[in-house]
Amino acid sequence: MEAAPKRDTERLRGRVALVTGAASGIGRATVERLSAEGASVVAADIQDAPGETIAANLREQGARAVFQHHDVADETSWRSCVERALTEFGGLDILVNNAGIGDIATIEETTADDWERTIAVDQTGVFLGMKTAAEALKQSGHGSIVNISSIFGASGGFGTSPAYHAAKGAVRILTKNAALHWAREGVRVNSVHPGFIDTPMLQAAKGTEYETAMIDLTPVGRLGRPEEVAACVAFLAGDDASFITGSELYVDGGYLAR
Ligand code: NAP
Repeated sequence: MEAAPKRDTERLRGRVALVTGAASGIGRATVERLSAEGASVVAADIQDAPGETIAANLREQGARAVFQHHDVADETSWRSCVERALTEFGGLDILVNNAGIGDIATIEETTADDWERTIAVDQTGVFLGMKTAAEALKQSGHGSIVNISSIFGASGGFGTSPAYHAAKGAVRILTKNAALHWAREGVRVNSVHPGFIDTPMLQAAKGTEYETAMIDLTPVGRLGRPEEVAACVAFLAGDDASFITGSELYVDGGYLAR
């Protein structure tokens, strides 16, 4: 594993961040980037072993990081997670709702149970996170929420994975709704929309015709890297984005420009 890059500016020094889905892919890159920018980080995920390892590696590098077992679909788990940030680091300034699960079935193949599970994690998880963290983020004075949606929250994609599209579309508009609600309370809320990013979520497609199709559909001609999404999250999380709320940032190699 490569060490987190050291930055010469620490834009997030003194800030406390909670990142969900932190054990893998974009979440892991985000934890490493926020930490490199000076934030104290609660890395939360349903996967314990890799999450613990990521937090331990960051601590070895001198960062302030802890792992918290967390299921974003569970409200009690959310309360424990926010409480961990408060007890461990004394507050919460940044919430990154990143955890998500994929769904590749067609609408005919999607059972009601499959639908409910995808919505529970990808959509309800974001609602629960914002609701549970609201008081702490308001107290921060410079709270920032970054919700990870997708290009598939704004387009019909390949015509498959209806639950995933519905959830990601909901995250896009829920972001704007919450941004307006908290606009005068010091909490900004924005969504980030990754294109095809080279993470374990795309593992099944690697080396197949689907990977070729994803690259062909991406104007810059390659998959994105998790670090490229994390850099945008870090920007939105901090004061460089102090006048940005309710916006949607596409990190998609030009996919939606077509
Ligand atoms: P990833 O590598 O699969 O990482 C997601 C992490 O979230 C995994 O550790 C996963 O654990 C965890 N997780 C799943 N369900 C959870 C739950 N209920 N509570 C807490 N953690 C949970 O995926 P990624 O590609 O980095 O995706 C991160 C986010 O970006 C997702 O919201 C995804 O929809 C979005 N996104 C990704 C892409 C892409 O091309 N990769 C494109 C657009 C949007 P398990 O492995 O056990 O499920």
